Amino acid sequence: MNVSMNLSLENTQNAFAYKSTTDLKKAKFLFSVIQSPLIVSIGTKITPLLMKSGFPINGLLRSTIFNQFVGGETLEDSARVTKQMGAYGVQVILDYGVEAKEGEENFDSVTEHIIEAIDFAATQDNIPFVSVKITGVASMDLLEKLNEAPRLRSGIHDSESEDTEWGRVKERMFAICDVASEKGIGVLIDAEETWIQDPIDRLVIELMTVYNNEKAVVYNTYQLYRNDRLHFLQLSHKLAQEGKFILGAKLVRGAYMEKERLRATEKGYPSPIHLDKYATDADFNEAAAYCLKNAASIALVLASHNEQSNMKVVEKMEAQGMNKNDPHVHFSQLYGMSDHITFNMASAGYSVSKYLPFGPLQDVIPYLMRRAEENTSVGGQTSRELSLLRRELARRKVKK
Ligand SMILES: Cc1cc2nc3c(=O)[nH]c(=O)nc-3n(C[C@H](O)[C@H](O)[C@H](O)COP(=O)(O)OP(=O)(O)OC[C@H]3O[C@@H](n4cnc5c(N)ncnc54)[C@H](O)[C@@H]3O)c2cc1C
Repeated sequence: MNVSMNLSLENTQNAFAYKSTTDLKKAKFLFSVIQSPLIVSIGTKITPLLMKSGFPINGLLRSTIFNQFVGGETLEDSARVTKQMGAYGVQVILDYGVEAKEGEENFDSVTEHIIEAIDFAATQDNIPFVSVKITGVASMDLLEKLNEAPRLRSGIHDSESEDTEWGRVKERMFAICDVASEKGIGVLIDAEETWIQDPIDRLVIELMTVYNNEKAVVYNTYQLYRNDRLHFLQLSHKLAQEGKFILGAKLVRGAYMEKERLRATEKGYPSPIHLDKYATDADFNEAAAYCLKNAASIALVLASHNEQSNMKVVEKMEAQGMNKNDPHVHFSQLYGMSDHITFNMASAGYSVSKYLPFGPLQDVIPYLMRRAEENTSVGGQTSRELSLLRRELARRKVKK
């Protein structure tokens, strides 16, 4: 049972109060479909091709997977969902969901959209954070080069054009953080594949030294499926203490396990990923406990759909005598998943949000394909969603 002294995650009436019965039935249908690895494998391959070829698939996508996992195509669309969440005490992390579109013009345009999202967040009561993917404002090629060459990583670049390119990436990130800091909105920087993560880590630490002196504005993401990240979290904390800034730490397990393992095998280097789920869980829970123990100097965002991990943090907060809405502890789940965690935690008074992507349909396809794949590959997650949806539908039927 997922119950602590003052929190239970079992209440499906709370979890789905914001959804009509028709919406619940739609969600049930969608999760039944994406439970099939074959359908998802075919779907994720042909959907981008069908879209490119102009095949009329947009309507179907919009009324199914897009509706379930995305706030809308524009900020105005997301405003409706944000308001709906706010009615239940649920906060929102806005994510301009456009990923890895190469080209300086696209990077500048993503930067502008993120700044617009921050401006919008500042006008709402329940949007404490925006999320940023560096791959939206920097070229994968550049990140990979900087990751590979320690000499380049040290900031002494051997190519003037790379130097200028990296300078522009930094300018974009500083522009985003300037506005966020001024408007009191936090910036969560996503973690990516290991082969591009090093320059991201270095940049995020640099941003924290500038913006996190009084409060946490910038957060790095730690993927605890990596066997080196618990140590890296502790190292980052040491840097924060030396530099007298607050460490912003968003903890996740990690989204690219298969890709990481495959690349390591193909290229013949040791896999950076833990050998099994047990080891990932152990590091994730230890990292969360470390952040709570050091809550005076670390601001934690626990980003997980794992009931046990969320409950462990709740129990530790209780044991440490922390307030449920301590400004240094925030919980988050993706929009469209694990409503039983989000809405029950909000109703019990915890600071919890939905991570809400928005953006044009064709641009959020990579995000949607990841959601479909994750729901197929993550053992038990889809069957849990389905069983919660069935329970709530049955409860509503009896009540009629
Ligand atoms: C708000 C939010 C923000 C996120 N941001 C990011 C981000 O910036 N970067 C990112 O990479 N991901 C991000 N994710 C996704 C996250 O990393 C996980 O993929 C997802 O949340 C599932 O993990 P879990 O803790 O919710 O659940 P669980 O179901 O408990 O864990 C599943 C995860 O455990 C790990 N795992 C599964 N099997 C094994 C195995 N055999 N060996 C080792 N490890 C295993 C994998 O990471 C898998 O995704 C985010 C998730 C949320 C909710």
